[in-house]
Amino acid sequence: MAKVSPYYSVNEAKKPTDKQVHHDNDQCRAGRDIPQSERRSGTGGYRHCKDCDN
Ligand SMILES: [Zn+2]
Repeated sequence: MAKVSPYYSVNEAKKPTDKQVHHDNDQCRAGRDIPQSERRSGTGGYRHCKDCDN
């Protein structure tokens, strides 16, 4: 697993606030499910994804 620059999904905005997260791990399952076309770099102001810490 590798740390990458923070990224998030454009669809994060549609989720409840407490579910909105950004990712910074290229092996994170939720992060990998984000299609390239829906990824944005940065944190989006969202919390850090818990799974990215594993
Ligand atoms: Zn993640």
